Amino acid sequence: MSRRKTLDEWQLESDIIHNKEFTILEEPNSGSHNVKILHKKCGNIISMKLNNHIKRYCAFCSGKNKKSFEEYQKKSNFVHVIETHVLQHYVPINHWHGKKGYDEQVYRDKIKEDYLIKKNIRYIILNNKELTKIKEII
Ligand SMILES: [Zn+2]
Repeated sequence: MSRRKTLDEWQLESDIIHNKEFTILEEPNSGSHNVKILHKKCGNIISMKLNNHIKRYCAFCSGKNKKSFEEYQKKSNFVHVIETHVLQHYVPINHWHGKKGYDEQVYRDKIKEDYLIKKNIRYIILNNKELTKIKEII
């Protein structure tokens, strides 16, 4: 049988997963007993099992602001995407792809950017000069 977790241990776990948004108000008998938990962000007090609390977000906020456990993990693991943009992304070059090629490139860039933002990935666009600088720093 596993040892009973203390209030402090549950609170610490909640702080890590929920970014210190919740305060556990009651000493839990076990993870499978309902306890009162204050969501500091919205001010609501929810009553739920701590086993569930560490996997789920506030019931009052989750409707408008859906956040799963996986999303929390992703958030704490920000991925930085660094990309070079050459001249052809900015100005249509007639003797290369022409206007059509340029438009397609802009369109593809937009889709990619939207995707990365949706996935919580920070998107940084650098030109060649800036990239050279970063290489020097690294
Ligand atoms: Zn809430």
